[in-house]
Amino acid sequence: MRTVTILGATGSVGTSTLDLVEREPDRFRVRALTANCDVERLAAAAIRTRAELAVVADEACLPDLRDALSGTGIRAAGGATGIDEAAASGADWTMGAIVGCAGLKPIMTALRSGGVVVLANKEPLVSAGDIVLAAARDHHATVLPADSEHNAIYQCFDFDRPERVRRIVLTASGGPFRDWSSAAMRGVTPAQAVTHPNWSMGAKISVDSATMMNKGLELIEAARLFPVEHDRIEIVLHRQSVIHSMVDYVDGSMLAQLGPSDMRVPIAHTLAWPDRMPTPMPPLDLVAIGRLDFEAPDPARFPALRLARTALDAGGARPAILNAANEIAVAAFLAGHIGFLEIAAIVEHILDGYDPPAPTTLDDVLHIDGEARRRTDMRVKDAVV
Ligand code: NAD
Ligand code: MG
Repeated sequence: MRTVTILGATGSVGTSTLDLVEREPDRFRVRALTANCDVERLAAAAIRTRAELAVVADEACLPDLRDALSGTGIRAAGGATGIDEAAASGADWTMGAIVGCAGLKPIMTALRSGGVVVLANKEPLVSAGDIVLAAARDHHATVLPADSEHNAIYQCFDFDRPERVRRIVLTASGGPFRDWSSAAMRGVTPAQAVTHPNWSMGAKISVDSATMMNKGLELIEAARLFPVEHDRIEIVLHRQSVIHSMVDYVDGSMLAQLGPSDMRVPIAHTLAWPDRMPTPMPPLDLVAIGRLDFEAPDPARFPALRLARTALDAGGARPAILNAANEIAVAAFLAGHIGFLEIAAIVEHILDGYDPPAPTTLDDVLHIDGEARRRTDMRVKDAVV
């Protein structure tokens, strides 16, 4: 029996995780589930899985959650302390599936409780990679990546002989606008940007996929997770999203992980790790897929790729600023306040004007993150006026 906690249980990754957990009630027992404010979904999942604790991050939603859970014996909690309690539930396995740097503190709490901590939530690794991984080491927690590319690399990477790895190749679908000119992208609407050709995901990561900032964040995520030099991580456009990433060895062998574009596959790998578990996925029909295409990405049309690469190479506070500015800019785009091409332009502007010293503590990162958000908010307001 493995005890499970899901941070961000009502989102896209959270729902996929619940689907797997609920298929094997003899194997998994749910400790805690959290959401921002989606009481209906959270309460329903908590009741179905007989969770011990359900938490809403937004305290204003707690009375509704209490109502929805009254008489069930499931404890309801709210706010940052409630999320912290869920993250510290001491579960054998915790999924970090909150979106954005809002997941950073909960992930740190989960790592301090030990066990297996699965990171779908990539933004904390981008902003505070060293700090997150140091906490894992100090508290003997195991970090497993659920992001499909990083999970693929994890499955192919020889951690005993990292010096034998020549390259990591991150695959990218290219998002819905991979064939669009910059001029055409200028008029992209939020509805167009959240419609991904291969994956069904939350709104923020869908927009990141459309700008290709998602691949930029994943480049930084890969540099955090795998002991290879930055210039040995390449990005290749692969439209079919069948190969989820590759590891190239010095002898000329390249290992790839293939699978359907369904997050339940990488999540199942982490949920059963080091074992394997069945999922409802049919075997890949390679004949139906027919061909696998690869192309070079175009940083001229997708400047987010260049911004992320530069932030990674410069290090220090740059990745945290990149991420925070992007979170605010994406939210502003989704709210209809700025245009699609302005997302990367605003991120670049914030990076150019803010250069604090490298963070060494969690508080440093949170301060830089907050200041970058404040500056981006102001920039967005200027853009609107
Ligand atoms: P989502 O928007 O669908 O879900 C986010 C979850 O976090 C929800 O449960 C929501 O209630 C909760 N949440 C939102 N804001 C919160 C806050 N301030 N405090 C606490 N909880 C909050 O997002 P998603 O698509 O499931 O993505 C989650 C994370 O996983 C992201 O970091 C994303 O980059 C990463 N990821 C997602 C996918 C995917 O297929 N969706 C794939 C790879 C990586
Ligand atoms: Mg990914």
